[in-house]
Amino acid sequence: MCCCKPESMSSASNCHSRENKQPPLIIMSDVFRILPVNLASSKELRDYDVLNLPRSHAVPVLDTLQRPLRDLRISVTDRCNLRCTYCMPREVFDEHHEFLPRSELLSFEEITRLAKLFIPLGVQKIRLTGGEPLLRRGIERLVEMLAKLHTREGKPLEVALTTNGVALAQKAQSLKDAGLSRISISLDGLSDETFRRMSDSDVPVGIVLDGIAAAQRVGLHPVKINMVVQRGVNEHEILPMAEHFRHSGIVLRFIEYMDVGSSNGWRLGEVVNARAILDRIAMRYPLQQVDANYSGEVAERWHYADGGGEIGVIASVTQVFCQDCTRARFATDGKLYTCLFAAHGVDLREPLRLGASDTVLTNLIAQRWARRDDRYSELRATASKPAPEKKIEMSYIGG
Ligand code: SAM
Ligand code: SF4
Ligand code: SF4
Repeated sequence: MCCCKPESMSSASNCHSRENKQPPLIIMSDVFRILPVNLASSKELRDYDVLNLPRSHAVPVLDTLQRPLRDLRISVTDRCNLRCTYCMPREVFDEHHEFLPRSELLSFEEITRLAKLFIPLGVQKIRLTGGEPLLRRGIERLVEMLAKLHTREGKPLEVALTTNGVALAQKAQSLKDAGLSRISISLDGLSDETFRRMSDSDVPVGIVLDGIAAAQRVGLHPVKINMVVQRGVNEHEILPMAEHFRHSGIVLRFIEYMDVGSSNGWRLGEVVNARAILDRIAMRYPLQQVDANYSGEVAERWHYADGGGEIGVIASVTQVFCQDCTRARFATDGKLYTCLFAAHGVDLREPLRLGASDTVLTNLIAQRWARRDDRYSELRATASKPAPEKKIEMSYIGG
C-alpha cells in the first residue's frame, strides 16, 4: 500500500513519496507566499501538487490578526431530532429539506486523520457537535479514536461534545468509557411548554434532565448547560433555570441569541443582553466575577456569593470576543471554516479522497488559517457591518 494514503484511498493515482525523504524544514510564511489562493475547486490530485512542499509540521500557525489555532469543532452530522426555532426552523428544515447523503459525510477514519493534522498547527481541544452528534451511529468509536491523540506537548487531547441531551441517558456511560473529557448540554427552559415551543418538538423536558443526570452520574465533570435566551420566548426561565442548577456542580451558561445562518430571521430586538441576564439573577442571588480558566475562554464566569456554584454568560452579540477567537470548524462534509458566520469554506474532503499526502493537507489547512481575517461579530457591532451574504447554517457547520 502506498505510504502516504490510507488503504481506503488505494484507487487514487498519485503517490507523494517525497514526504518520506525528510526535506529540510521550511517556514510557513514561505509556503503562503507561493500558493494559489483558491485550490478548493481543483479536481485532480496533481492540482494540489504545489502544496506538496517539505513538511512544516513543527510550526503552530497564526492568522492575520495574530490569533493562534487552538480549538477545532467538528460537525459529525447535519441532522437533528429537534427543530429549535433559532437554529433549524421547521419551515426551512422540513420534510423537503435535503440533508447530506451518507457518502458526503466524512468517515470516522477521515475525521481522525484530519484532526491529527490540526494538532501540530496548535490545536489543543476538539469538540464534536452538529446537528445532533448523538444521532451519528457509533459516535463513541469516533470519541475513542480522537481521545487517543496527543497535543504537541504530549498531553492527551481534550475531546468534548455538545448535545441536546435527548439520547444522552442511553449514551452517557459509553461516551465516558470511550474517553470523552467533557460535555455541554443545551436546555432552554425547565417547563415542558417553553421547551416544546423552543425545540418545536414533542420531547418532554424530563428526557433531557435524565440525560443531564446520567452525565453527572458517570462522571463527565463539569457538566455545562447552554441556555439560549430569546426575548419574549424564554426570558421567564432565567431564574428558574438558575435556581434549578444552583448547588448542583453544574455550570449553567446563558447565551445571547445570535444571527447565525440565514434561516432564523434573527432580529437584534430579540437578544436579551448578558448584562440584563446577570442583573436579573444578581437581584436574587448576589454574584462575583471570577477569572477566565484560560485565555480565549468565551464565557464570562461568575460565582454565587453564597457558594451556590458557577454560572457563565456568552455575550457573542453585545461583548464580542473576535480578538481572542482561536476556533476552526470543519463541517459535516469536510469543509473548513474559520468563522461561525462564514459563507465559504475550504474543501478538505476532495483532496483527502483523491489521496493527498499529509503534507498537502497540512499546508492547505495552515494556508487557510494564515489568511484568516474573520471578525464578523466585531463588524456587526460597528457601522461597517459585513454585506449580507448567505451565511451557512449552524447545524451544518457545527455550533
Ligand atoms: N444539537 C446540539 C445542541 O443543541 O447542543 C449541538 C449543536 S447546536 C448547533 C450547538 C449550540 O448552538 C447549542 O447550544 C445551541 O443552543 C446553540 N445555538 C444554535 N443556534 C443558536 C443561535 N441562533 N444563537 C445562539 N446559540 C445558538
Ligand atoms: Fe438541533 Fe442543536 Fe440546532 Fe436545536 S440547537 S435544532 S438541538 S442542532
Ligand atoms: Fe470567532 Fe467569527 Fe465569532 Fe468572531 S464572529 S468570535 S471570528 S467565530
